[in-house]
Parts: sequence; structure tokens; C-alpha cells
Amino acid sequence: MSFRMKTINPHPKPPLVAAPFDSESLLRGSGLRVTRAAQTVLELLEHNSQPLTHEEVAAACTAATGEAPDRVTIYRVLDRLVEAGLCDRRVGPDRVNRFSRHVETASGNTFECDQCHKVLALPSDPELPKVMGRLGKALRKQGIDTRHTALTLHGTCGDCAR
Ligand SMILES: [Zn+2]
Repeated sequence: MSFRMKTINPHPKPPLVAAPFDSESLLRGSGLRVTRAAQTVLELLEHNSQPLTHEEVAAACTAATGEAPDRVTIYRVLDRLVEAGLCDRRVGPDRVNRFSRHVETASGNTFECDQCHKVLALPSDPELPKVMGRLGKALRKQGIDTRHTALTLHGTCGDCAR
């Protein structure tokens, strides 16, 4: 009869986790109430590279927590996250609202994929602020005061082009 000893590691390594996403302090730092729903939604958006519709957020919450969330609560949470600047709301050509984690871009210039609606910061280009400045000046001559300029390039992202 053969007998093999099982080796048991007395100090199992915890699974490697990249810098944990701290939804609680993000919410608190933005002056929002820390609720289970708000944390779940913020974490879902953080970990999805693609913007989600309200439907998709609700479905993902169900998958994450095992129970269907209150739809009105999800609407309110999304609204609050957008108001606090933690998330962006974009209306697609299909008139559907999509929500994603706010993309920090120094310039405010972004690329948006028309297939999956992913939003990426544009690479910085030293010419761009000059061009935007010129456009602002040209508009001022027409009596238009621009407060905020942001350029969005539309197209197909690398994932969708495959
Ligand atoms: Zn895409």
C-alpha cells in the first residue's frame, strides 16, 4: 500500500490583486452616501471597459450580488454618480443612455468607439490646444463665447475592428 503525504503550505499566498479599487473612499470623497448599491454600481463601471446601459447595470448587479436590485435605486445611484463626476453619461445615436467611469483627460479630448461605446483619452498633441484656441477666437468674433472645448473622435476601437 502506497502512502503519499500531502504537502500543505502553511502560508498560502493571497491571490495577487492589483491596487484594490476603493469605492467607499471615492464615494465619500465626492460627498456621496456610501450605500451597498452605490458601491456595487461604481465597482461594476470601474471594472467594465465598455459603457453600460441602465439595463446592463441592473443585470450586472444581479449577477454580482445574486439578487435583482431595485431598478429605481439603480437609476438614482447612476444619476448621483454622474452628478458627482465619478461617472459619465453618454447618449448614443440609438438615444440610449450609457454609463461609464469618468475618463480623466487633461484636455477633455476623447475617442469614442461607435461599436462598443468605449471612451479613451486622446494622446496629447502640442498642436491641439493651439487649434482649439484658434477656434475659440474665431467663434468669439461671431459673438460666441466658448466656455469649454472638448474634441471627440469617433470610430472603431482595436477590439471591435478584430
Ligand atoms: Zn469598440
